[in-house]
Amino acid sequence: KTVQAKYDTILLKLSGEALMGDGEYGIDFNTANFIVNEIKEVVEMGVRVGVVVGGGNIFRGIQGAARNMDRVSADYMGMLATVINSLALQDGLEKIGVPTRVQTAIEMRQIAEPFIRRRAMRHLEKSRVVIFAAGTGNPYFTTDTAATLRGTEINAQVILKATKVDGVYTADPKKDKNAVKFEKISYLDVLNKGLQVMDSTAISMCMDNKIPIIVFDIYGKGNMKKVVMGEKIGTVVEG
Ligand code: UDP
Repeated sequence: KTVQAKYDTILLKLSGEALMGDGEYGIDFNTANFIVNEIKEVVEMGVRVGVVVGGGNIFRGIQGAARNMDRVSADYMGMLATVINSLALQDGLEKIGVPTRVQTAIEMRQIAEPFIRRRAMRHLEKSRVVIFAAGTGNPYFTTDTAATLRGTEINAQVILKATKVDGVYTADPKKDKNAVKFEKISYLDVLNKGLQVMDSTAISMCMDNKIPIIVFDIYGKGNMKKVVMGEKIGTVVEG
């Protein structure tokens, strides 16, 4: 950790959609390239970085279930989608010289290491970005919950929830002009007001483990670094 960084370990949660850019599906490589450069800046500050990426740009279990698929099978498809995104991020990071490991909650040894917490810690110590793929490995969970779980396991001091908006608002700022941004909000308020920050399982887990969530706009250049330096951008969920 350098003098500038407020945290020595962070867990970055990227939604699958963050990789989509302005596209409607899949991965936009210019966007992915932008994001990996943002991650690199933080790694260069000496911060240990774990990443969990979602799969919503490719497949969501709920979508499959809505089309009459078995929910559990559909969720496995969603988890596999996160593996695809994880490999894209790995490739992007390594192309710009950032060493990485992908660890997956569902074994596929030819592609990624299995998730082994102690090994993950060792990689982080060696300044490798560890990308945690396949969510929690369990259906009926989300990658937000996976992010909280892995973040807690690697002793991250904060979960950075990267989104397309610059924080948590009273209403959807794209639809409601009177929407106001919260600088800070409690876990219970997020739950009680039904704000779309993370699903309730993830929020409760952060609450129980006293791990703050910072919601910020990933598309703003330098934002991730600012958050890591403790600048007040985005919304902090804590207390
Ligand atoms: N998923 C799951 N268990 C997990 C994590 C994810 O079953 O622990 C499945 C679930 O179907 C989910 C999909 O993977 O819809 C993609 O993850 P998510 O929707 O969280 O992605 P994001 O919204 O962050 O892109």
